[in-house]
Amino acid sequence: MATTEQTDDGPTTRETRSAILETDDLTKRYGELVAVDHANLSVTDGHFHSIIGPNGAGKTTLLDLITGRRKPTSGSIHFDGEDITTLPSDELVHKGIARSFQITSVLSGLSVYENVRLAVQAINYPSLSLFDSYFRGSSRQQEINDQTNTVLEQIGLDDQADQVAQNLSYGDRRKLEIGIVLATDPKLVLLDEPTAGMSVDMKHETIDLIEDVLADATVILIEHDVELVMQLSDRITVLHQGSILAEGTPDEISNNKQVQNAYLGGHTDE
Ligand code: ATP
Repeated sequence: MATTEQTDDGPTTRETRSAILETDDLTKRYGELVAVDHANLSVTDGHFHSIIGPNGAGKTTLLDLITGRRKPTSGSIHFDGEDITTLPSDELVHKGIARSFQITSVLSGLSVYENVRLAVQAINYPSLSLFDSYFRGSSRQQEINDQTNTVLEQIGLDDQADQVAQNLSYGDRRKLEIGIVLATDPKLVLLDEPTAGMSVDMKHETIDLIEDVLADATVILIEHDVELVMQLSDRITVLHQGSILAEGTPDEISNNKQVQNAYLGGHTDE
């Protein structure tokens, strides 16, 4: 989120952070169709940055490119100072890019505890062998267990640690997905329509959780619910037919005539 600093003239809000993610002329073509068209996206470290736009605008494709699920036709992506354009998804997770929702990460047959613990171990202790686990790794095991318990408390599922994931309610399963993301200790979290299909109560609970546990994280959110986007975002990028139509604060985007005409004006909840 934007930082507030004390200066000689009193408190001022100013940007003190740099971009953690930048795309340069990023383009993805599917034959004749240009799904993402020379997109120059810049996401500031610590910001909650939403990407909105009508159906087919290219939002999911852009996320797929950033998370290595698809390769761009041209252009580049830099994350934390490194060119990640050609890196596969699994390497990007280790670099600190975590994506949640739509791509479901929960292992249904395992317990809530086991799901989070696996994510903690896979990311933080990938080289812990079975031998280490049983004979040499007792202090490591304790660290992994402690981290797992911390995440479970953060997402409010500590009292359901032994519950098999497939028996969770829809809302709790979504919380577990956030837990799996948190367990990887990400530098950048990508959320893809996190409240899609939720009841109003569940939606509020999930938004509270996102605001709580991701308060200090850098987040990219794709969302159709404009009210939610306005509430959560530091910056908003509007995509239209694969191109970036506008970028700004929630106020700037709400008052942008081009955005109103292309998207907000005629927008109904999709
Ligand atoms: P929505 O809000 O409906 O999810 P979106 O903004 O996420 O839409 P994308 O799913 O990125 O948009 O799609 C952008 C364009 O690319 C659309 O015209 C879509 O039909 C097209 N497209 C997406 N994936 C493919 C694919 N694998 N092959 C061909 N065209 C594709």
